[in-house]
Amino acid sequence: MSTQAPEKHAFQAEVKQVLDIVVNSLYTDKEIFVRELISNASDALEKLRHTQLTEKEIADDNLPLEINVTTDDTAGTLTIQDFGIGMTRDELVENLGTIAHSGSKAFLSAIKEQGGMNDNLIGQFGVGFYSVFMVADSVEVFTHTWHPGGEGFKWACDGSGEYVIEPSEGQRRGTKIVIKLKEEHKEFAQESRIKGIIERYSSFVEFPVNLNGTRVNTTQAIWLKPKNEVTEEEYKDFYKFVAKSADEPLDWLHFSADAPLAINALLYLPGHNPEIPGFGRIECGVALHCRKVLIDPEPKKLFPEWLRFLKGVVDSADLPLNISRESMQDSALVAKISQVLTKRLIKHLADIAKKDEEKYGKIWKTLGGFLKEGVASDFAHREGLANLLRYESSMTEAGKTTGLQGYIDRMKDGQKDIYFISGPNRKAIESGPYLEAFKARGLEVIFCCEPIDDFVLNNLGQYHEKQLVSADQDDLELPEPDTQAEGEPLDEETTKGLCEFLKTTLGDKVKEVSAGKRLVGSPVVALNADKMMTPHMRRMMAAMSAQSGQEPQEMPAVVNLQINPRHGLIKNLAAMKDVNADVAGLVAEQLLDNALLAAGLLDEPRGMVNRLNDLLEKVTKA
Ligand code: ADP
Ligand code: MG
Repeated sequence: MSTQAPEKHAFQAEVKQVLDIVVNSLYTDKEIFVRELISNASDALEKLRHTQLTEKEIADDNLPLEINVTTDDTAGTLTIQDFGIGMTRDELVENLGTIAHSGSKAFLSAIKEQGGMNDNLIGQFGVGFYSVFMVADSVEVFTHTWHPGGEGFKWACDGSGEYVIEPSEGQRRGTKIVIKLKEEHKEFAQESRIKGIIERYSSFVEFPVNLNGTRVNTTQAIWLKPKNEVTEEEYKDFYKFVAKSADEPLDWLHFSADAPLAINALLYLPGHNPEIPGFGRIECGVALHCRKVLIDPEPKKLFPEWLRFLKGVVDSADLPLNISRESMQDSALVAKISQVLTKRLIKHLADIAKKDEEKYGKIWKTLGGFLKEGVASDFAHREGLANLLRYESSMTEAGKTTGLQGYIDRMKDGQKDIYFISGPNRKAIESGPYLEAFKARGLEVIFCCEPIDDFVLNNLGQYHEKQLVSADQDDLELPEPDTQAEGEPLDEETTKGLCEFLKTTLGDKVKEVSAGKRLVGSPVVALNADKMMTPHMRRMMAAMSAQSGQEPQEMPAVVNLQINPRHGLIKNLAAMKDVNADVAGLVAEQLLDNALLAAGLLDEPRGMVNRLNDLLEKVTKA
């Protein structure tokens, strides 16, 4: 067999088909051919490194294991060269002239199924090399095998049905691919364009990638290293790289598993809340890689929505052959990865919460909103997430928080429910009308100070078989107080009469008036008679209709009024209603407004001033 003359070869039928599809399809990202060729070069170097371990003699054994990319924008060429394993003549025919049967078949049927191409199909079906014909007029491959006795060859093709192989003198070990670009794709002969592409897709390739003599990939794929080989500094630097952020991460999870799925992940909790109110939802910043090569910078559905604050990398060696970007969304594989990582992350947060309260406090303060969202929206992880909730309560110091488990640990014997109350802040809740009943009974109440909180806790419903109950609910069954309020209460009949008087006077403004055991120091309290419409919910809905530019809807709060039969004011009122119904009526109205005001339910306080003046005039009359 002569090795001197150029030999024409026809492509295997499937290759021809693939080539036609690749060349004639309209790609969104033609640039991915760079990724494919660099990945091939990296594979070739990796194979050489392996061969070096077992073989004594290797051609050009002193050559560095690196990839050199050169651009020439006057000639309109791009060259990608490696000192890898190279190819013999037979290997050239086999590797570039045919496609592994399974790969080609899968590729062609995947295209049929999807009704077209997408950027990842190419790399994942063993046809990556041909992507170069999207941009090339002609391609020359110069190569020399690692076998010390081997010869050099040149493979050349213009994208038609044939290629030519001929011997080529003076080749060094490895492969050099010279791409003559089509006129309309000359941009790929520009250094800056190629630099951007390498940084985007090939930043973590194991071997140095030099562009016109300067190394481009300086960041290591630290997520593939064992944890004890990565320094804190390296973790922090990598965060700056992936998060494109100058701050420091709050924490990170470095996770590796081989079975049942090969997953390597490095997930960062950002140092600040990346979602700015009013600027809409952010996209999750975790990129999906397969063996260090970028598959998708913003994969949808890799994590549940509430984890969109995460930054980092997920790498799975199991991904490529069965997945393409478009079908990835529903892929069972991605769902599995998502499940494993989400669970692991929740456990990681729980560990921090247990071991380092201060650190967890910071995480909660910065990212707690997302975790709350998870409790309300992610049924699959609700239980795990509920352990991570933290709130101030009537038994924590100001600024300190407790978890629900902590609350349960402190519960009194016989206490069945977990109580919470909403309000704009701790002070407002403490001076509000609801807490005193719980204080008198030594019951702890969780303080909900964010509008979303009572939604989240209502949604959660229960925790470790304890109901979560809003403390402003009218139908609470509270035990006898530890400390009895001072003074004798009104007798039953007088109390009943006063309640009737109040209901008649206040009319539709209250649903019911009754005497309760709840109160200690206050004369009255307005209790929520509508479980679904909490005060916060009302405010949220009002804010929403204001935002959408609608007329604010009239949403009168439905309340029950509870009076305290031991309170001086109530006793006086009971007596006054029979002798001075006029003033008593005004006092009744004022009492209701006071109760609504304390509950944060008074929408229109101005009417109160006129009434107060009226009242003052009446009581100052000599
Ligand atoms: P894949 O990389 O998925 O196998 P490609 O179409 O990208 O598919 O490459 C086909 C084959 O060509 C590779 O499997 C490899 O054997 C060979 N090849 C491609 N590029 C090189 C290279 N730079 N050095 C050595 N062999 C290469
Ligand atoms: Mg390849």
